[in-house]
Amino acid sequence: MNYFSLNHNAPDVSFEQAIVKGLAPDRGLYFPKEITSLPDSFFEAIGSKSNVDIAFETISPFIGSEIPQDELRRIVIETLNFGFPLVEVEKDTYSLELFHGPTLAFKDVGARFMARCLGYFNRNGSDQKNTVLVATSGDTGGAVASGFLDVEGVEVVILYPSGKVSDVQERQLTTLGKNISALKVDGSFDDCQAMVKRAFTDESLSDIRLTSANSINIARWLPQMWYFFFAYRDLKKSGKPIIASCPSGNFGNIAAGILAKKMGLPIDRFVASTNVNDTVLRFLEDWNYDPHTTIPTLSNAMDVSDPSNFVRIREMYGNDKTAFAAEFSSYSFSDGETLEAMKAIFSESNYVADPHGAVGYLGLKKELDRFPQSIGVFLETAHPCKFTDTVEKALGFAPEIPESVSHILKLDKKYHEISDYSGLHEFLTNS
Ligand SMILES: *Cc1c(COP(=O)(O)O)cnc(C)c1O
Repeated sequence: MNYFSLNHNAPDVSFEQAIVKGLAPDRGLYFPKEITSLPDSFFEAIGSKSNVDIAFETISPFIGSEIPQDELRRIVIETLNFGFPLVEVEKDTYSLELFHGPTLAFKDVGARFMARCLGYFNRNGSDQKNTVLVATSGDTGGAVASGFLDVEGVEVVILYPSGKVSDVQERQLTTLGKNISALKVDGSFDDCQAMVKRAFTDESLSDIRLTSANSINIARWLPQMWYFFFAYRDLKKSGKPIIASCPSGNFGNIAAGILAKKMGLPIDRFVASTNVNDTVLRFLEDWNYDPHTTIPTLSNAMDVSDPSNFVRIREMYGNDKTAFAAEFSSYSFSDGETLEAMKAIFSESNYVADPHGAVGYLGLKKELDRFPQSIGVFLETAHPCKFTDTVEKALGFAPEIPESVSHILKLDKKYHEISDYSGLHEFLTNS
């Protein structure tokens, strides 16, 4: 399968090249040249398919012959070694829990899949190492570190701002060792991001094969369509139209859901639920794309005012207002509404939602009011223990910390401290 740049000013590339480059040379996001329609027989049989079967059959067309089928199946099996339970929170309202991976972040799936694809291409192509370079403000770093641990031929270098990530997040980056290096930067997340960007364009580093692992990478984005197939399999027997609500930041998850629909998945409507960073909602109202300054909120993984994947959604709807309106809605909620929702969900259903899931729940409820004959699912994108303070504020108690996280709290942190770009340059050239 080939991929083209959504800026239309760069050559088409293979799946491997799209992964390694991350972004096209014209700064556009890559998008598949074709979207395969799945046969009716796939949807007729979906009720009895496993997660691995669904994932393998839906991702195959996007990779074609670049990875042999048995290798791809192994990659999918290794990626999906945890569950995605669909929990009924209220009548006709379900939570799809995406937080059972090794770092309790839904980003685990994309990171694990990308790592394994890159590992395959490394073993079977050039013998040159890839260095994955990422800046993180929190969850991405942990998911990438865990996903790429022990992957042959791949070194991972993660930059994070000193004192600005939580203790759990810092330990997820700094305790693994092996092929994972953490650089603690005396600066902000934006400083980290700027250093990473500079390294990608630094001629003096051209001997090093640098790769990015941020969420626009095709190999992190595509696997997210699986969640929607899993939800459909589990809700199909209701016979009702399905609404999927995604707590949205960079709009990667929801864009992957729309891609699944383009392949034939019968999801009726998509809801982009956001916090007060509501660029897309305002765009749908007056067709004017006008990002404001980002406002910090309790659902901080969605504090994004210029969502990078929105161009992929515009592409799929042909940038057409009617096409958007036919199946896409967006709603925005304040921190006060988010806390109230967490409280209400717990008191009515005994369910502990994290602040992102709560925003998804609120958006779903609004859409169910408009389409009361439907059934709905919201994506629960993070384990509540990652947002202990907010859960405590809303519910009056701290959520339980699973063993997978509590054990790293005892491990020692190992990192290198840098204060500017020359520190990063030196690290990359000497290691
Ligand atoms: C990354 C993230 C989101 C936003 O997902 P997008 O695909 O960027 O819209 C939502 N919730 C949590 C917890 C996240 O980490």
